[in-house]
Amino acid sequence: MRDTSKHQGLRNQLATVLQAKGITDRKVLNAIRQIPRHLFIDSSFEDHAYKDKAFPIAAEQTISQPYTVAFQSQTLAIQPNDKVLEIGTGSGYQTAVLLELKAVVFSIERQQELFKKTSLFLPKLGYMPKKFIFGDGYKGLPEQAPFDKIIVTAGAPFVPKPLLSQLKVGGMLLIPVGDTTQIMTLFIRKSAKEFEKQELGDFAFVPMLEEKN
Ligand code: SAH
Repeated sequence: MRDTSKHQGLRNQLATVLQAKGITDRKVLNAIRQIPRHLFIDSSFEDHAYKDKAFPIAAEQTISQPYTVAFQSQTLAIQPNDKVLEIGTGSGYQTAVLLELKAVVFSIERQQELFKKTSLFLPKLGYMPKKFIFGDGYKGLPEQAPFDKIIVTAGAPFVPKPLLSQLKVGGMLLIPVGDTTQIMTLFIRKSAKEFEKQELGDFAFVPMLEEKN
């Protein structure tokens, strides 16, 4: 596994592309400049790593498009020490961005193959979430709640109630909702019972896999 000045140059270019698409948060852009995305995908596709494109990983899943990762990270305005629940670990690239932003991250993955692979891989790069969880994101993580931020990185057919209830007051849930394409939806918890909802445009994610019984 190598990270060279050529890769660094490509990352800088990718950050410039994301800036042109509307990413303004300097910390997020710096994270994109830091993280060796080419190491998160199969080495034979290295050339694709710094394009602003989603790309297949294992188990019929994809590493999200860099713009999407940057958009979700910027929207959640991650602060150092924010307690963040991530649903859909996948390749771990979004996890790495959250960690570059100094969040305390709990990351759930529903597919064992990806859970195993990524929980071994990320620490090798020095990225250490508080916990990797093999489980079902529809349930959230009640034993660690409440969270400052919850990020869902798969297309959800509906908004799972447990995720809303696991937010701190003032906390935010960012979730793409819909079947074939999704509307990026932000919920801000205003009080125990009140949530503000904002719709932030269309995105395309792989579907959130069904709840296990
Ligand atoms: N952020 C990841 C996105 C991966 S794609 C990346 O950029 O690599 C979405 C991921 O969500 C997949 O890994 C998929 O297996 C996982 N997933 C789907 N349904 C899930 C569920 N119900 N609970 C937890 N993870 C789920």
